Order: sequence, then structure tokens, then C-alpha cells
Amino acid sequence: MPNLIKNSKKRFRKSWKRLAKGLGRRIAVYRPDIRQECPACYYDKVNRVSSGVSKLSPGDPNYFVVGRCPVCNGKGVIVTTRKRCINGIVNWNPSGSGANSFTFTEAGWEGATKVEIKTEPCHLALLKGSKHVVIDGIVCKLAAAPIIRGLGGKDILVALLFTVNKPKLDSGEII
Ligand SMILES: [Zn+2]
Repeated sequence: MPNLIKNSKKRFRKSWKRLAKGLGRRIAVYRPDIRQECPACYYDKVNRVSSGVSKLSPGDPNYFVVGRCPVCNGKGVIVTTRKRCINGIVNWNPSGSGANSFTFTEAGWEGATKVEIKTEPCHLALLKGSKHVVIDGIVCKLAAAPIIRGLGGKDILVALLFTVNKPKLDSGEII
């Protein structure tokens, strides 16, 4: 790679880091949970809970005779939450005007609060595959696939999300 490009890329990365640090907020991206069958008990596929029968041999510290499996607490599955924090610029209720604005169907939007985030393009796959995103403590979902947009010759990832919990009618959030 020519040095010039390399340097400008480095410069961008540096200036982006400054920008994201200064204006950015922590955005928690949750990927779909991993659900694994409990290693200590048999799973009851009909009732979708632990069968209450130990898979392990007596002597194993997690072996149990009766009652609730101590490993999964009777759930039969072990759920692993996958969370990753990224830095980005958060813009609640973006105006949405202009040629670059997102188009979206009204159906999914009525009463929901919009939020736009800008972050590094490297987070595209992570965001696309996300289950939900938590911004300022509020659970949000992607409104559309995130896009990479050129911003002053630099690439930036822009994603539009909406809050999952619709605001109450009397909360004053709906104008
Ligand atoms: Zn179990």
C-alpha cells in the first residue's frame, strides 16, 4: 500500500477515535444468545425445560438425584448473552430530511422513537447480526440495514434504529 494512503488512513483512524471519544457514547450491541443444552441434565424437548434427570455419573460435583439441576437451574439450557460495546455518535430523533435520509415504512414507526448512530464501518457485520442494541439504557432495534456513507471523503457507518418499547400516550413523548 502506498505510504500516502496508509498515512491518511492512519490519520483518519486517529481523528475518528478522537471524534468518537469526544462525541461518542457507548453503544451495547447484543448478538443473538447462544443456547446450549445443559451439560448436566437431559432436556425435555416437549416441555422445553430440564427433565430433572442428571446426565452425569454419581460422584460428579454437579450430579443430582432429585429436584432442580444445579447447573441450569431447571431450565435445561444454558443461555450465553453476547454483548459487545462500541463507540459511536448518538442522535436521538434525527430529522430524517434530505436526499441521504432513510426511507422506512410507517407501520413499524408509529409512536416509536428514532435514533441514528454513526460509528466505524468495521462494525457493520456486528450491527447487522444484532438482536438488539442498547443506547443510553434504552433497548433499540434496527429499522433498516445499516449503510456505509461517505462523509467528507471518509467512510462512516450510519444505522437508524427505533426504540422497542413504545412510549406511553400520556407521557408527552408523542407530539
Ligand atoms: Zn441442567
